[in-house]
Amino acid sequence: PNSKAGDGKPRLLLMGQRRSGKSSISSVVFHKLPPSETLYLETTTRIKKESMHSFMDFQVWDFPGHLDYFDPAFDVDNIFEEIGALIWVIDAQDEYLEAIMRLNTTILNLQHSYPNINVEVFVHKVDGLSEDYKGDTFRDIIQRVQDELSDHGYENAPVSFYQTSIYDHSIFEAFSKVIQKLIPQLPTLEALLNSLCSTCHIEKAYLFDIMSKIYIATDTSPTDIGSYEICSDYIDVVIDVSEIYGWDRPSENGDADLQETGNNDAESLITMERKGNNYLYLREINKYLALICLMGDDSPSEKKAVIDYNVGVFQAALKQVFPRAERDIVVQSPS
Ligand code: GDP
Repeated sequence: PNSKAGDGKPRLLLMGQRRSGKSSISSVVFHKLPPSETLYLETTTRIKKESMHSFMDFQVWDFPGHLDYFDPAFDVDNIFEEIGALIWVIDAQDEYLEAIMRLNTTILNLQHSYPNINVEVFVHKVDGLSEDYKGDTFRDIIQRVQDELSDHGYENAPVSFYQTSIYDHSIFEAFSKVIQKLIPQLPTLEALLNSLCSTCHIEKAYLFDIMSKIYIATDTSPTDIGSYEICSDYIDVVIDVSEIYGWDRPSENGDADLQETGNNDAESLITMERKGNNYLYLREINKYLALICLMGDDSPSEKKAVIDYNVGVFQAALKQVFPRAERDIVVQSPS
């Protein structure tokens, strides 16, 4: 129910006041802009519809903060019927009362007409705040939103809160959680990853969207941010993202024979390396996804054959979960 777009892909909408950090977030996450360079970005002044070269191919519509999108002249239905999640960015370093007022108005409006849209509040730029102040601000914002919602009888509105910054991995973690809610196959993916981990004594396994470094699933063992960081940094080491744009595999032409014999696997990148006290294993699953596993010190590289085999099984299962992923998910240019 959350992904009503014509192409069946979840769609994200990024909103918030001017200078709250919307352009920075989409540039850092989806265009690999170094965070320090966002200082020179022009602030968002128009609605931007972007197409992502990613497995989900979701779109970030970057809205200017001053726009009155509930104005009758604005085609609200066209916008909100297609999205799965509305990400609302609040600048935690700035006065936020007005931002919260607008957010509350928006949530109440949505609850009325589109109660299924997840509202994901990014309490953003927390890198500049002291630990104490950060926690207080976060709690205060949650309280103010929840009070308003319960005053209107919406105790169970699908609203979640995250603390984010473009200067660390928190923005990627938050996006991962937002996206995972929009993937109906998530429980299946988690079960497959759990089984892979227990068979091969893997500590943590992530299924990454290579381009954005958002993970669309992980096994259900507790996640600590450290393992995410190690795995996402490994993508940069191993995969030259610029190459992905030129990746053109035979299977993508829909050649059934090639797909069934798995000939395209021969080209996919598989690597295993020792990193500090860990072993890292990476395998490209298809054009957009990579599986990355983190293993403890006791995993000698001789185990690689066992892992290769089981990851092959995982990959085959994944094709059942996303049967059309290889051929039908294509990048569409913004219309
Ligand atoms: P927009 O108008 O919502 O698109 O906001 P911008 O993306 O233009 O960001 C406004 C300013 O906030 C820029 O100078 C960014 O460098 C800065 N900014 C964005 N994200 C962060 C963050 O996580 N931490 C800090 N300290 N500054 C940020």
